[in-house]
Amino acid sequence: MKLPEALVNFFGLGGIETLTSTHHLTLASFRSIQGIEAVVSPIFPAILMCEIAFLVWAYHRSPRRLYGVYKIPVLIYAFNWIIGLLVNIHVFLWTQRHFAAFAPFTATLRVGWFFYAYVVWELSHFVYHWTCHKVRLLWVLHSPHHAPTHMNLGVIFAAFFLQGTYANFVRTAICSILGVPVELLLLCMVIDACWGSLIHFSEELWPSGKTGCFLDTLLLMPSDHRVHHSSNPEYIDTNYCNTLPIWDKLFGTLRRETPGIRPRYGLSRPQKPNHFTDTYFGEIGLLWHDIRNADSWKKRALLVVMPPGWGSPGH
Ligand SMILES: [Zn+2]
Ligand SMILES: [Zn+2]
Repeated sequence: MKLPEALVNFFGLGGIETLTSTHHLTLASFRSIQGIEAVVSPIFPAILMCEIAFLVWAYHRSPRRLYGVYKIPVLIYAFNWIIGLLVNIHVFLWTQRHFAAFAPFTATLRVGWFFYAYVVWELSHFVYHWTCHKVRLLWVLHSPHHAPTHMNLGVIFAAFFLQGTYANFVRTAICSILGVPVELLLLCMVIDACWGSLIHFSEELWPSGKTGCFLDTLLLMPSDHRVHHSSNPEYIDTNYCNTLPIWDKLFGTLRRETPGIRPRYGLSRPQKPNHFTDTYFGEIGLLWHDIRNADSWKKRALLVVMPPGWGSPGH
């Protein structure tokens, strides 16, 4: 891959490039899935670059220190990008088509239905995220997102490549079967992607991670997502929603940050610092180790579907 091509891909500019080379650009060009993807893809890399620029400007971060903090998430991003891109778009289209057929009704493109769609979207996100924490096989996919020991925008890249496919399937299936049409679903995805970036802002960029106004109650803020990423016993297994805390509130998993209890990022097991293989494959290795050492097939099956830590001494 030539450098300019690699840069175009990293900054998510491939979609814009394709649109401008094959179409006369009009507003209608952006109403297709390719059009929406072309607009959304560069947003996150641009915000990430702003975060890095801010750290250099305000905190005089050296390239060496920045490299240490961002290396693993960016490596995972590159790894996932190669494998995941095509798979995910096909999973989305297939799931939407098949599950929408079972919807008892379909929402229309009205403001009221948008709120309905977003509440359903948030439910689908809760289900996807909660299962990632409560089923060990799915935790294997999600654990790289929790492995970084520093919170920053790069953490969004950190996930096993199949996590995106699983998220895509669960969220699209739930929304489609509950009558959310593809247009509203894509709108929810765009808002979720933007808010999902914001809640990963580093503590240097937004120290409190709160606005100090009513929005802190209404929405999930970076402070709340920092709590989710913490391995502190007080904070673990909380805040599974992404934007609206409604389902966390309903299921009793909402936990706001307590003054004086600083989030401690990273996994609760010992980790190899800044190590790609341990971050990406560490939990698979541990699951495989436990399965091999289990004394029955029943226990092996349960190890896969029960929460992480199940079957270990003291659990
Ligand atoms: Zn999580
Ligand atoms: Zn996160």
